[in-house]
Amino acid sequence: MQPLLIGHLFPDYLNIYADRGNIAVLGRRAAWRGYQLEVRALGAGAEIRPGEHDLFYVGGGQDREQELIAPELAALGPALREAFEAGAVFLAVCGGYQLLGRSYRDQSGDELPGIGLLPLHTVAGSERMIGDVLLECELEPGWKETLVGFENHAGRTILDPGAEPLGRVVAGFGNDGESGYEGCRLGRAIGTYLHGPLLPRNPWLADWLLAQAIAHRTGDLPAFEPLPDELETQAHAVSARRAETRGGRF
Ligand code: GLN
Repeated sequence: MQPLLIGHLFPDYLNIYADRGNIAVLGRRAAWRGYQLEVRALGAGAEIRPGEHDLFYVGGGQDREQELIAPELAALGPALREAFEAGAVFLAVCGGYQLLGRSYRDQSGDELPGIGLLPLHTVAGSERMIGDVLLECELEPGWKETLVGFENHAGRTILDPGAEPLGRVVAGFGNDGESGYEGCRLGRAIGTYLHGPLLPRNPWLADWLLAQAIAHRTGDLPAFEPLPDELETQAHAVSARRAETRGGRF
């Protein structure tokens, strides 16, 4: 099989809190299962051919970087939405998550266009929401897992009525500090505020994304043998404890 192809959107602009580490995790876990990963940077004017990319990744960035690339990213919107409709996987973090929605009104009041893939919009508030987060997720009915990470955002993300959040906030602020929910999940697309990076301490999510990317390529969802994940489990536990003891929200 040809390597799985990852399209990394605007990596030079959207990559805070080592968000790029998510790609390293996907690459390593793929290799352990005998799959190769090829990562291609996608910037302004990138050509995105239907069916070519198995997974698109977009990291976080501050308002300044978002402002620089939002129109260029929005111009790729039709091709990205077409790829999503054809089964490509998406993982978007923080600033990237905001720009997968319809729009982001930033702290200076500018309305940045999103690509309109996820059913949500975001408006910046005056206070930043910062700290460790613990979520409960159920990506498939009856399959419950916890997700941990670190949030730092001024944006309040409002999901459209009926949209599915990524998880329920056990500790932390989440999408808007009020709803009790974090992130958004639409089919094979996941958007979240969680940095850290996200995947090293949440290997179950890395494997889910990888399996979906393989299913996009082959049409079959692989059943992975579990990996030992000793360090990953410890890192998850440390983050969960930090989130639970931060106090305050939810
Ligand atoms: N600029 C956005 C906000 O503060 C995103 C920040 C981030 O990616 N950490 O809401």
